[in-house]
Amino acid sequence: MPLLNSPINAILDPRYQEIAVVASTQSGKSQAMNQIILGYWLEYARHHTAFGIANRKIANRVYKTKLKPMFDAVPSLSALLPRGGAGSRGGFPTEQLLTNGALWLFLGAGSAADMSQATVESLVIDETDKADAEAASGKEANPIEQMIRRTDAHQLTRKIVFTCTPTVKAGFIWKKYLEGTCGKPLFRCIGCGEWFWFEWSWENQRIGWEDDASEVSALETAFYPCPRCEMKIHEEERLAMLRFPLWVHDGERIDRCSADEAVAAGPYSEAVVLQDGNAFRVTGERIATRTESFWWNRLCSPFTTLGHLAAGLRKARENETSRHAVTIYDMALPYEGRLIDTSEISVDAILEHMRYSDYRSGRKGRMPFRYDPERFLCTSGVDIGKRELYLVVDVWEHDAEWFLLNSWRCAFLLPYEYPHPEDPRAIFRGLEHVRDYLIRGFHDAEGAVFRPAAVGIDAHYQRVNRKNRRTVPEAEYQVYEFCRQYGLGTWRPVFGEDSLGGEGIVLPSKLDRQRVVLWRVDTDILKCDIHNMIRLKPGQPGFWNLPQDTSREYARGLCAEKRVVDFDDHNRERAEWVVEDPFNHPLDAEVYSWAMARSLGVKPPRLSEAGADPDEEEAVEKEKS
Ligand SMILES: [Zn+2]
Repeated sequence: MPLLNSPINAILDPRYQEIAVVASTQSGKSQAMNQIILGYWLEYARHHTAFGIANRKIANRVYKTKLKPMFDAVPSLSALLPRGGAGSRGGFPTEQLLTNGALWLFLGAGSAADMSQATVESLVIDETDKADAEAASGKEANPIEQMIRRTDAHQLTRKIVFTCTPTVKAGFIWKKYLEGTCGKPLFRCIGCGEWFWFEWSWENQRIGWEDDASEVSALETAFYPCPRCEMKIHEEERLAMLRFPLWVHDGERIDRCSADEAVAAGPYSEAVVLQDGNAFRVTGERIATRTESFWWNRLCSPFTTLGHLAAGLRKARENETSRHAVTIYDMALPYEGRLIDTSEISVDAILEHMRYSDYRSGRKGRMPFRYDPERFLCTSGVDIGKRELYLVVDVWEHDAEWFLLNSWRCAFLLPYEYPHPEDPRAIFRGLEHVRDYLIRGFHDAEGAVFRPAAVGIDAHYQRVNRKNRRTVPEAEYQVYEFCRQYGLGTWRPVFGEDSLGGEGIVLPSKLDRQRVVLWRVDTDILKCDIHNMIRLKPGQPGFWNLPQDTSREYARGLCAEKRVVDFDDHNRERAEWVVEDPFNHPLDAEVYSWAMARSLGVKPPRLSEAGADPDEEEAVEKEKS
């Protein structure tokens, strides 16, 4: 894979101490950066070399999948293994002294080597973002920094290699890439002869396949259009182009040169003589930095096809998990698909959404528009707390705006902490009050009455008294009973789960014994949707309108949770919503209401539309007011 020559040569380039490689999976990244470099360091340079790892589990995996196969496959390397001792019998060694004097060891949390004593000349930190995440979670004091410090004795000659698939923009590897030279591989269009890189983003997906093609035909028809001549580059042509990459770092460009000049270019200069006799070399000034950084995605890899990438994109249209996988594993871009930073959502920012001067909550005021059932959908959500029910009523305009009609803390309904011995059916009765309120309906601008089409009711709050489970009727059974009695089409028990793992977002599932349909919902995605909608500007689809008399308490409840992102051992994002303010009912109630709207066909705002043109927004704004 010619693409790998440059990143591999980088370990000898005296201008750089650090090499940051951010690339997609199955694109040669690990093979090149771990195995070849380690083979070189251990076998020829006889360095003391460390693997920086996040935890013992990863060390085990790195040993099994990367180190051991390398020793097994290269006879000259395996000949350097000592006859006895750990590692010689196939067990998991945390360090190994080779017979040529080279040493390798695992450094990091849970490693046997004492971090404060080991000294190494070369360091490879694979899966940097995992190690970084361990630091963020407070388990370890910045392990990457500690690992780097182990090379201080060799400040003039040390080499440190960082590799990872990207995770999020704030992740270690992406920041390191941007700090460095920002290299990208360019390939020459076989149509027009222009050099370009395989650019891709969700807004500009580029990879094309015939319209309405099935997944099978996408495998054959997929192409990448040349950014200059628009020629459709199909798989065969792509593979031909991949044979001649030129790495271009920030500040550099590609110039024509003579074949002699290309051949005579220095060891760390990029130049190529093509089959047709054309020769090119990279010229210009790189930025001054000690980090040489490389990035490539799977469009640059011969280990996949355009068809497989297209098939992945088809799948990612509807499925958040696939979308995440395509972003980081295929396209090697940090994942921004979901809301990461929820810190900018504040009570005041939420209350700025009160736009219509005569728009009041409940029945005191009217919705500012005529309620056309083709255009609007009314839903409601009920969250059940220990002492109260919390109700929200929303109107969703398809592909347009969102109106809160009312938010209501029904504290008087459940005067006692549930379950109360004198009132075991408090929740059922509370829900009947909610029903009385909702069936009277709401008025639109012309005085017509409309009602919620679906009400999502929390059937999953924490059981208060586990010991008394047998004697106290479970609260969720009251919810089921209520929904069965008043009609499962409108009254729907909702079961919020942190994640449905890509199975779906709102999934009806049968509860056999009660003959009730329980609606399982992915609360992470739905909460992200809501927080995304709060941040939209007027005129953007999904923008959210609040009545003039919206309470601060409601706004406070919407910001009661913050999304904290962690990574599992496969660098998959694992999100958790941390409750910072115990009054989080408004957020939960909105989740249930929004889940109902989604189940009835309202679409979440498309992320690419979140960055609409501000001029256009203003025009829309004026039109409405
Ligand atoms: Zn072209």
